[in-house]
Amino acid sequence: MFKAILIEKDNAGYRAGLTEMDDARLPDGDVTVRVAYSSLNYKDGLAITGKGPVVRSFPMVPGIDLVGTVEASSHAAYQAGDTVVLNGWGVGEVHWGGLAQRARLKGDWLVPLPAAFTPRQAMAIGTAGYTAMLCVLALERHGVTPDKGEILVTGAAGGVGSVAVALLARLGYTVVASTGRAAEADYLKSLGAAEIIDRNLLSVPGKPLARERWAGAVDTVGSHTLANVCAAMKYRGVVAACGLAQGADLPATVMPFILRGVTLAGVDSVYCPRPDRLEAWQRLARDLDPAVLESLTTEIGLDEAVAVATELMAGQVRGRVVVDVN
Ligand code: NDP
Repeated sequence: MFKAILIEKDNAGYRAGLTEMDDARLPDGDVTVRVAYSSLNYKDGLAITGKGPVVRSFPMVPGIDLVGTVEASSHAAYQAGDTVVLNGWGVGEVHWGGLAQRARLKGDWLVPLPAAFTPRQAMAIGTAGYTAMLCVLALERHGVTPDKGEILVTGAAGGVGSVAVALLARLGYTVVASTGRAAEADYLKSLGAAEIIDRNLLSVPGKPLARERWAGAVDTVGSHTLANVCAAMKYRGVVAACGLAQGADLPATVMPFILRGVTLAGVDSVYCPRPDRLEAWQRLARDLDPAVLESLTTEIGLDEAVAVATELMAGQVRGRVVVDVN
């Protein structure tokens, strides 16, 4: 028997709760993992609360991230005792996920725990942190170097945002953090932000082009915010777009792209190819200060996951949430 969060949807409605179940209920897969930690991401919040159509089959164990020890494996790359990390691949959406003490997965989805991190640190990073690194890599790939100018991070006090601020600051960029939470200004400065701006300046409809300010941007918010970010990019500036916390729409014009050569670089973590994942984890090992990571992390138990998911959806959670499932 093992404990898990289970999401059910039937005539009685949509609900998520802590339950105990038999190992025989685990889905198919070639690797069985004793989970140590999971984490809470925006997508887990959508799944648990039912606020977004994330879960594609029911019942579902949510949790797009997990770290744990292999108990049994018929996959050539993994043996009992190995410590492995999983991010994405539809886990927690179409395949049972990490908010449980056991998981059965495809070995091809796993990466070995990087030597630089403890299991808990790997989940403090989680999909949000690994996505923040993918965004930084996208800016680098398009030639955004620290000397080019200021980098804007939107949704800065959230999980992706917090890690992006920390990474970019450590790499020598001048980071401007956009947040709706003025009370988190000191927190964002402690992560390395040089300046804090009010997200309300960006979240309302704006002009097709604005004063050129940003050399690069990491946008976790979408909608009018992303449109306004694009409008205020410097000539040949680059926006790494990964999120939709304000909305999935993009009410923009092509002006920034055709007049200023702005690049809109999309970032997906879920089906990101393995070589890019490994590169992102290697760079996290190099570029993320463990003390800063700890400072942006809160730990909860599995029995708190449903309540904290509701807080996350209400924009009340700061940084990253690690879930100790045991
Ligand atoms: P969090 O909830 O931790 O952070 C989201 C932040 O966005 C909030 O903390 C808040 O920041 C800001 N925000 C929330 N609501 C609004 C709003 N209505 N208008 C403007 N800003 C808002 O989530 P994560 O960091 O886990 O994820 C951030 C986004 O990135 C999500 O949309 C998520 O789906 C996406 N994502 C995408 C991935 C990919 O593969 N493309 C992978 C991981 C995440 P503040 O309080 O500072 O204003």
